[in-house]
Amino acid sequence: MSALPPDSSVLTFKDARRVVEEQAALVLAGKVLARNAQAGAREFEDLLAAVGRVLAEPVLADRDLPPFARSTRDGYAVRSADLKQVPATLEVIGEIKAGARAENIPSQIAKGQAASIMTGAPVPAGADAVVMVEYSSQDGERVDVTRGVVPGENIVPRGAEARQGSLLVDRGMRLNEVSLALAASVGKARLEVYRRPRVAVLTTGDEIVDVNATPGATQIRNSNCYSLASQILSAGAQPVLLPISPDEPVKLRQLIELGIRSDLLLLTGGVSMGRYDLVEQVLTEMKAEFFFTGAKIQPGRPVVFGKCGAGSSSGGTYFFGLPGNPVSTMVTFELFARPMIEALAGQAAKKLAFLHARLKSEIRVKNGLTRFLPAILSGEFENSEVELVAWQGSGDIAAAARANCYAVIPPDRDVISEGEWVAVMMR
Ligand code: AMP
Ligand code: MG
Repeated sequence: MSALPPDSSVLTFKDARRVVEEQAALVLAGKVLARNAQAGAREFEDLLAAVGRVLAEPVLADRDLPPFARSTRDGYAVRSADLKQVPATLEVIGEIKAGARAENIPSQIAKGQAASIMTGAPVPAGADAVVMVEYSSQDGERVDVTRGVVPGENIVPRGAEARQGSLLVDRGMRLNEVSLALAASVGKARLEVYRRPRVAVLTTGDEIVDVNATPGATQIRNSNCYSLASQILSAGAQPVLLPISPDEPVKLRQLIELGIRSDLLLLTGGVSMGRYDLVEQVLTEMKAEFFFTGAKIQPGRPVVFGKCGAGSSSGGTYFFGLPGNPVSTMVTFELFARPMIEALAGQAAKKLAFLHARLKSEIRVKNGLTRFLPAILSGEFENSEVELVAWQGSGDIAAAARANCYAVIPPDRDVISEGEWVAVMMR
């Protein structure tokens, strides 16, 4: 049997995360070829179908934004100098609606004149401010104005938001409502996006049976492949579910060989210290490279990260061996697999950042591990509070389902008092 990787490859959480980020950066830079994703595979999608996809082309302003000096209020387009002394009375020479054609826009606002103007309408030449309708009263062709304005008030100048040809959204952005709106605003009805990477899920364990099977007394239904599939989808990739592998090296190796044809392989189970935890052993026999074989976290300590088939023409496939305990699987996916999937999907890197909330009741743990404990974030507005849920450990999916986040406990803390700010990882 080949030697297993040494124990020294158990890293702190931050070091392990950094190792993944480094590899993800190589993928993103194109230094490491992925089979279908980053290696240039792109496709066009209609705007509506592009939400959640990663942009493969830069979106540029097709014209100045706004394309004309835009009034941000209903009111009167005026010369601010005419309102140095208020109240003042101005002559109303026209009405400008949003979308007004050139022939319906006064060509010039002269001294002592104003034009009634609507929000989103073009400000006519000569006017340098818009006074809000609230500060005016019109009687026929005269308007009395009770408030002064500074030059530029209530006007967005032409091109102030973006100049024609300037970059609005760069490639690598995952499309959300804002970037879609921006793309629509510059007339991009179709967008070039990266193909979704394919992520294989290989469940291991003699005790694991399919959801449709009737489990024997000591068998467990395969839930991890569903949590992983849902996380893979939310990370912007396509799950490829492989058959369940027994804890038997020949079959396991066959399925790993199938799995590494995808862009990424996620294994679940079989990475702990038990006699039948064969994942590392089989991958070692396959000459896999291991970046780490554990992280000082709870849950999820036995997590493994590596690359298999580095000598092949494709440059190899990254894999994560995620622990089989369901909550460990979910947490280690979030911490480590997600950033790699995002890179394979062509998405620009982002740091893992946590929100903070006040702790509702004291936490006592042993220090040494970074903990991601199922918790409930509650409270309202700026008074967010967080509280751990009672659980039976990392196999307890029911507790995880009562939670809506993870409280993050740093490795150097053993007592955290009620009322302290703690980091929260949303899910
Ligand atoms: P392992 O990491 O293989 O030692 O598994 C740890 C625990 O997680 C055991 O109690 C397994 O029965 C359970 N487990 C492993 N894989 C799955 C799975 N796919 N779905 C649900 N539970 C699992
Ligand atoms: Mg197992």
